[in-house]
Amino acid sequence: MENLIYLDNNATTRVDDKVLEAMLPYFKEEYANPSSMYDFAKHSGRAIFEARGIIKDFFNAANEKEIIFTSCGSESANMAIRGVLNMNKNKKHIVTTKVEHACVLNLYQTLEKEGYTVDYIGVNSNGEIDLAQLEDAIHFDTALVSVMYANNETGVIFPIQKIAEIIKRKNPQTKFFVDAVQVAGKIPIDVQELGVDLLSISGHKFHAPKGVGALYCNSKTILTPLIIGGHQERGKRAGTENVPYIVGLAKAAEIATDFLKYESTEVKRLRDKLESGILKNIYNARLNTGAAYRVPNTTNIGFEYIEGELILLHLSDLGICASSGSACTSGSLEPSHVLRAMNVPFTAIHGSIRFSLSKYTTEKDVDYVNEVLPGIIEKIRLISPYQDELAELKKLKNM
Ligand code: PLP
Repeated sequence: MENLIYLDNNATTRVDDKVLEAMLPYFKEEYANPSSMYDFAKHSGRAIFEARGIIKDFFNAANEKEIIFTSCGSESANMAIRGVLNMNKNKKHIVTTKVEHACVLNLYQTLEKEGYTVDYIGVNSNGEIDLAQLEDAIHFDTALVSVMYANNETGVIFPIQKIAEIIKRKNPQTKFFVDAVQVAGKIPIDVQELGVDLLSISGHKFHAPKGVGALYCNSKTILTPLIIGGHQERGKRAGTENVPYIVGLAKAAEIATDFLKYESTEVKRLRDKLESGILKNIYNARLNTGAAYRVPNTTNIGFEYIEGELILLHLSDLGICASSGSACTSGSLEPSHVLRAMNVPFTAIHGSIRFSLSKYTTEKDVDYVNEVLPGIIEKIRLISPYQDELAELKKLKNM
């Protein structure tokens, strides 16, 4: 689409041209099944071998055998969680957070029906995890602690290394799974330094295509497979390997490593410019995460006393893509579970918008959003039923 300003990179990203280029031969010339015996298959087998080495380095894992290729972040998470629990059937307790992605939370709701007890750890008003509550929750029966690395809606980063230390202190037998889908390509991942047992990523969040992911599972952790069948992935995940996509994932990981510095400087600078522009020029805007430590590309801003969906529609008319924390369920707008866990005031929760940038975001994109957004918000404010409250807010902010 011409004149598109894409600020929804936490939802998905554009495939990098170099990633696509690396994948193409594996659709056309090198299409052999890597399990086949003839020489022709050696090329695709070699491609998977090399990709595994690249992902091992991307995670700083100790061994290639600790990498399992999957179809997405959701599959990686389901495999980690079910796999660990199946191997520890006598333990029935899990600790997680209230702000996990649906692929984790909905699985825990299912597991509760299957007899597991799950403790959901809360966050403060900036979205930071309550470590004391987490420490209290872990006990002798805890099979698994599962915590995301960064939140998809707010970008807030959780202190994974500290959590790993708490787990070791409270119950060294407890396994630790980290959903790292929203940090891959944004900050470095070092599974050994973090001290995690399992960690998941998804290609489409860092410029690989949709339909490929990976799971790190350290050599001390044994998993039952989620998909049973052939011997692929050392018997841990059956199904003929998706060679082009695995090649694409590895290429994206290589490129992402080279871009980490750019993410932490240039992408962050543009995010901060967008954020400060909005907060400076729009009196009913509030930064939902306060001073919390975040990934460099994400900002979540609440526009008080107006509806987020209306903002998105106006932005969309101008070719600007962002997202709101609300999910439209059965005709009613249910505010996001993440913002609810943070106790974002009701005045702002329905008007919260996430902007997520990438290496493709330009200065021009950010300047344009900063130019048009105040007018959009003004238009929507005029039809808000909260005119007295808005006038009060305007006075308070001296604007
Ligand atoms: N975990 C987090 C934090 C996510 O943001 C997402 C996707 O939005 C997922 C897991 C699921 O990844 P996938 O879409 O690859 O299944």
